[in-house]
This record gives sequence, structure tokens and C-alpha cells, in this order.
Amino acid sequence: MHVVNSRQKVFLASLAVALLLLLAAGYLASPDAAGGDGRLRVVATFYPLYYFSEEIGGDRARVEPLIPFNSEPHSWEPRPADIVNADRARLFIYNGADLEPWVEDLLGSLQNRHRMTVVEAVKGLPIVEEEGDNHGGEHGHGLNPHVWIDPVLAAMQVDNILGGFVRADPANAAYYASNANDLKARLDALDAEYREALANRTRDTIVTTHEGFDYLAGRYNFTAESVLGLSPDEQPGAAKIAELVDVVLEHDLPVVFGEPVYSDRYMETIAGEVTRRSGREVRVLVLDGIHGRSGPHSGMDYFEIQRQNIENLAIGLGAEGA
Ligand SMILES: [Zn+2]
Repeated sequence: MHVVNSRQKVFLASLAVALLLLLAAGYLASPDAAGGDGRLRVVATFYPLYYFSEEIGGDRARVEPLIPFNSEPHSWEPRPADIVNADRARLFIYNGADLEPWVEDLLGSLQNRHRMTVVEAVKGLPIVEEEGDNHGGEHGHGLNPHVWIDPVLAAMQVDNILGGFVRADPANAAYYASNANDLKARLDALDAEYREALANRTRDTIVTTHEGFDYLAGRYNFTAESVLGLSPDEQPGAAKIAELVDVVLEHDLPVVFGEPVYSDRYMETIAGEVTRRSGREVRVLVLDGIHGRSGPHSGMDYFEIQRQNIENLAIGLGAEGA
């Protein structure tokens, strides 16, 4: 699941060859790490890290995402053009905790790796190893990478990212630090909004599509049950669906949560089965794991998506009117 298998190793080796061919062809004749306009060139693997980096870098950095915002990052793999883009960065930021299992191979294939600052954004964070049973076998466990959804852990990621900016571009350290402080203050306020909105909740359980909300649930003291595992690349069994139908019935849940980059069909199946057995309607609302910026949330930024999550979570946890 999160482990680089032999098929991926062959794939990455072929990427390295493709990169050498591009180099030979002169495609990378001027690896301009400064961006040509004096701005620090930054590559961040996926949307939340891109957003944090943009906020910190302001007008003194040019930040690009590696993974397109409408892609599912757990199953994404780099193509040769992505390696060429990454090679232009002076600062490279990835999440870690197995979100990007290809990252070591990608970095190893870069021509400019020696003058690049690399940030693992989960470094020093309390990463949880899940012992999930969703797949009933060898793929049922792994490191949980989804820290960015928890505003408190996200602020720790901001500190790590700031460290990278300061190492890569010390002349602008004070500017980056000031921007990072503003961003952390906004994350602090977001944390307060979550606490306030969920303070009067009447339920303690939600049902989601994939196992992406355990840090958020731990932070605000509820339980998230999911139909898919950490990396939603496998089909759930009928037993798992039945188990979640029982969870919805037992906790009298008014809502099950879909996610923008994943199909709603499992949630619709669960909701339909609950209705069939109880006569009660169950809504499918969105709880966005912010793996990108897609579907109904494609025009929203990290904080706007979080505020929509708070609104929907309050409904799911029976905290309306809080
Ligand atoms: Zn995920």
C-alpha cells in the first residue's frame, strides 16, 4: 500500500533513465534554481503543503505543486516531467509518513539534489501507526500521514516548512518567519472554531470513506469509522459495509461522509441500507480530507475547506446550533 513494490521500483528506474535522456537532449540546460526572477523556487508535493508554502513564501517564493490538486495523492506516481520540475526547486517539501512512498527514489534521481533543501513536513510529529483491519490482511496497517487535517499538527508542519525556507534562503528569514507566524495564528483560530462548533455535540462517532480523519477525531474527541483504509486503493468487503451499517444504526447517525476525490458509492450503499432497515433517511455530506482541492471544493482554499468541514461535522455529530 504505502511500500514501494518491485513494479514501482522498475517504474522509478525508468524515470531516472528518462531524466538522463532529457539532460542529454539539453532540456535542462539552465537549471535555474532561483527562478530567474530572484524568487526562491519551491516544490511542494501536494495541496496543503503547497498552500502552507505559498503563505510562508509570499511574494519572495515561487511555489509549485508536484501532485495536481484534482489527483488522489495516495496512488499518484511521478512521471518524467514531474522529475524535471522537481529538479528546478531550491526547496523541496514533502509530507512523509508514507504519503509519498516514491520520494526517496525521486530525490535520488535529481541532478540538483546537492543544492536543494529538503523538508519532511511530519518530522518530529506524533505519527500513529494504524493497525487497521479493513483489508483483513497484509495491507491493513501503516503509518498514518493525515496530520495536515488537524490544525494543531498542521501548525507543527508550518514550523518544519519555515525551517526549510530559512535554510534555503536565509537572507529572507525574518520575512518568512513573520508570514509563518500569521499562518499559525490562523490555524490557532481554526482550532478554536472546531472546539467551539463541536462543544455541544450529542454524538461521538462519524462514518467516513477512508481512514483519513483519525488525527482530527483524536484532537476533538470523537471516533471516525471508515469503509476504506489509509490508502483507499482497495475494495471494501461486504462485511465491512455491513459493519458500518450497524455503526450508523447503533449510533443513530444522521449523516455519512463522502470525500471529493473518492466515489460516494460506498456511502450511498450504507445510507440506502440504513434506510431500508430503519425507514430513516441518512444524508451523504462531504468531509474533505484536503488531499487536494477538487469536486465541490475546487474553488476553496485550505481554511475555506476546513470551515465547510466544521459545518458538516457539526451536523454529523449533532452539534447544530452550538
Ligand atoms: Zn488519505
